[in-house]
Amino acid sequence: HPVVTFDDVHFGYEEDREILHGLSFEVPAGSHVAIVGPSGAGKSTIGRLLFRFYDPQAGRILIDGQDIAQVTQASLRAQIGIVPQDSVLFNDTIGYNIAYGRDGASREQVINASRDAAILPFIEKLPDGLDTEVGERGLKLSGGEKQRVAIARTLVKDPPILLLDEATSALDSRTEQAILATLRRVSQHRTTLAIAHRLSTIADADRILVLDQGRLAESGTHAELLGAR
Ligand code: ADP
Ligand code: ADP
Repeated sequence: HPVVTFDDVHFGYEEDREILHGLSFEVPAGSHVAIVGPSGAGKSTIGRLLFRFYDPQAGRILIDGQDIAQVTQASLRAQIGIVPQDSVLFNDTIGYNIAYGRDGASREQVINASRDAAILPFIEKLPDGLDTEVGERGLKLSGGEKQRVAIARTLVKDPPILLLDEATSALDSRTEQAILATLRRVSQHRTTLAIAHRLSTIADADRILVLDQGRLAESGTHAELLGAR
């Protein structure tokens, strides 16, 4: 069964203004789905509903076949790792920042975890390893390096579902492509849901959902969407 299901979801932040109008879609296990659409279409709202920052007024959201209304916040957070556009890092070392992703992990455990094939490709692109200071107290990381740390921090939790919410949108396109290439290496067996507004971000998607004003305007593979023109 699909890992994420939106089933006829209606949602509005305010009573008289519905934002999602009966949205239905499925994210199959292990697939890479991209949600694209103009600003204000409701893309980030989908992420907020997945994390239950808000609940839909009607319809259901399922993860692994289970209604998320019945799932604890802790279990949701174990299942979905999110990488937002502007990740906030602590003024501490890269190692600390990555360890923070896994509650209570020691520096040694992070170093061990970072040998994991999923983490290493992000770490090896960083200046001087885990001891590098981040933020005001030390070296200022570039936007791309910050996002690498943020992605590594999320991946040490080993979440089955990775939600990228405009995770590379603030980066220049070369940095974006480098990070996407690393993500491609590590997420082959992971389900990813990527919210994006740039077409360059979705080259790797198996399936693209085009959202427009809270409705699914189109969906399909690259070939299907291009063929439909
Ligand atoms: P997108 O991510 O596609 O740009 P959003 O999901 O952020 O779109 O927003 C969809 C709509 O919901 C927009 O019209 C936006 O103004 C509105 N919206 C977003 N967040 C809130 C909020 N906290 N309260 C009220 N309206 C909101
Ligand atoms: P955790 O602390 O379990 O590692 P995350 O790394 O998933 O949690 O998120 C870090 C913080 O950012 C949390 O406090 C969460 O509430 C907040 N957050 C995550 N995603 C979003 C989002 N799309 N919009 C607003 N806040 C978010």
